[in-house]
Amino acid sequence: MATESFGFQAEISQLLDLIINTFYSNKEIFLREIISNGSDALDKIRYASLTDPSALDTEKELYIRIVPDKENGTLTLRDTGVGMTKADMVNNLGTIAKSGTKGFMEALSSGADISMIGQFGVGFYSAYLVAERVQVISKHNDDEQYIWESAAGGTFTITPDTVNPPLGRGTEIRLYLKEDQLEYLEEKKIKDIVKKHSEFISYPIQLAVTKEVEKEVEDDEEAAEEEEDADKPKIEEVEDEDEKPKEKKTKKIKEQETTNEELNKTKPIWTRNPQDITADEYGAFYKSLTNDWEEHLAVKHFSVEGQLEFKAILYIPKRAPFDLFETKKKRNNIKLYVRRVFIMDDCEDLIPEYLNFVKGIVDSEDLPLNISRETLQQNKILKVIRKNIVKKCMDLFSEIAEDKDNFAKFYESFGKNLKLGIHEDAQNRSKLAEFLRFYSTKATEEQTSLKDYITRMPEVQKSVYYLTGESLAAVRDSPFLEVLKKKGFEVLLLVDPIDEYAITQLKEFDGKKLICVSKEGLELEETEEEKKTREEEAAQFSDLCTTIKEALGDKVEKVVVSNRITDSPCVLVTGQFGWSSNMERIMKAQALRDSSMSSYMASKKTLELNPSHAIIKELKRKVAEDKADKSVRDLTYLLFETALLTSGFSLDDPTSFAKRINRMISLGLDVDDEEEEAEPAAGADASPPVETASTSAMEEID
Ligand code: ADP
Ligand code: MG
Repeated sequence: MATESFGFQAEISQLLDLIINTFYSNKEIFLREIISNGSDALDKIRYASLTDPSALDTEKELYIRIVPDKENGTLTLRDTGVGMTKADMVNNLGTIAKSGTKGFMEALSSGADISMIGQFGVGFYSAYLVAERVQVISKHNDDEQYIWESAAGGTFTITPDTVNPPLGRGTEIRLYLKEDQLEYLEEKKIKDIVKKHSEFISYPIQLAVTKEVEKEVEDDEEAAEEEEDADKPKIEEVEDEDEKPKEKKTKKIKEQETTNEELNKTKPIWTRNPQDITADEYGAFYKSLTNDWEEHLAVKHFSVEGQLEFKAILYIPKRAPFDLFETKKKRNNIKLYVRRVFIMDDCEDLIPEYLNFVKGIVDSEDLPLNISRETLQQNKILKVIRKNIVKKCMDLFSEIAEDKDNFAKFYESFGKNLKLGIHEDAQNRSKLAEFLRFYSTKATEEQTSLKDYITRMPEVQKSVYYLTGESLAAVRDSPFLEVLKKKGFEVLLLVDPIDEYAITQLKEFDGKKLICVSKEGLELEETEEEKKTREEEAAQFSDLCTTIKEALGDKVEKVVVSNRITDSPCVLVTGQFGWSSNMERIMKAQALRDSSMSSYMASKKTLELNPSHAIIKELKRKVAEDKADKSVRDLTYLLFETALLTSGFSLDDPTSFAKRINRMISLGLDVDDEEEEAEPAAGADASPPVETASTSAMEEID
């Protein structure tokens, strides 16, 4: 016959060599790859038949069949999918290399596992893990039946098929197994592998099982008469027996009987009644969906009916993948099906970005089958599905929250996502806020929810207070907490960079305002008396405030008397709508930011003085005595710079701060000043040169 020979494209040839010669024990994955190709081919013909039902005429039944043949040492996989034309075979099985060919070889050399072959689009060649020779017999609606054949070694042939029975439509892959791979002909082995790797294929996978059966047949002439009946299924024979059997002469014979046993009988799991599905089954489905090696943390299986109908299963993994926030990465999160037909992996429009850790499937009854990625975005049905999914995710989180330990695990892995959600999803913001957990001045061991925080609020407290910062250690003893602690007002300590974004979006919870205690305008529930005292103090200290403001210039916006500190001499607060010190720190750390924004948003700082503090009192006395006292200016700078640090800012000029401190240490130790190096000339910086403060002044405020 007219056999044509072809050379494999060079990289494919290399790949085949690698597959044949690499020592690799997990060879069973070849079956998964061939089955998956069959399933793809079935998807294609089913999809084609949606617009042209006659496409199925050549073979109506859609299935994959595995036929082991021990006599000949072959394993045959047949599918009734779309099949391949001669040109398809030439192109797809050997002459046109996909980018994955090289990619896979590179991945292998850097330690990837052969079982990842399918992801590189070269799964077919895994047949050579177990076969020394492979035949692909295929019939496409547009062409005759052809045989592709190769024993690797650089070439393959294509021959018009005149020897095999006609396939109707579809493909038969015949693997001539290597001598040491004959175990793949064992029924049990095949069943195990299919169960393990291909259980959730949505077409029936049949296994041809041959059994030797003993049959009782009628003897002699009578038997001859009813010869045709021998092929009848057993059930009828049984029925025959149930009817009063006539006295007949019978004899026993042995017969080979082949039946096709369906291996993946379970309907698509999401179409089944949740009550009938075991936890193990959900676990197995999760694993097959995600390739995760651990089981899921939580699952929700539901259906929506009414104007719009769909079924879905959503899973929450136990851990975040290491690249959860790598934005470019495509991930298979939610698979979309339409009336049981697989449409696409990773349907981005089904779920918002911040829920990108949720896995699962959605099967819609209403979407058109020919929906494309482009039209999906505009699709109204999809929007409703998406809304429902988000709502179910919230329910799922609530369920996880019922178990404290589970929720802690969940929050550790995906807390950032929830906070992102608060930032992005205005509609679900208040719901998401219920899941937030923070440390606080009272919750020091375990994080608290906002709801629990509110139950602990003293009656006079009207708002929820929080402080943001770099770490718990940095904020735990912050001067901003002084008065609040004294009043018994709990303060949430927010130390995750994303907290700052989330909380400013959230603004309130359960009707209570969220108030940053390091920002201006902190209204603590003061008594009339307290208010009066503060006003009086403001008047008494107004001179000092003016003097300090003059000394510091535009380093601060204002200098005022504080209501929030009791132990520290002063703090620096920021404008209500500007960045907090923590935000300023975060923004500075983002190297590529446009700095013009920084100068605009960077907080205008207000210096707040503690009127009851000895230092402030003494300063006030000094200013009253002599406004021009040189030491006041120097001390003011020290106070200001120290306040920068305790308030969570960084120093613009640490060197001159250090000099001022060192000078104080020298004074404290009575070390002679003269030995110090000469001062650098004061630059454009507004900070004063470190003047020689009068010894007496320093000692007075000791
Ligand atoms: P992938 O499945 O990722 O495309 P494979 O190496 O597994 O890569 O298969 C290569 C190609 O060969 C497929 O894309 C398909 O065109 C063709 N092919 C393989 N098996 C079959 C089959 N059973 N029926 C039809 N086409 C097939
Ligand atoms: Mg494949």
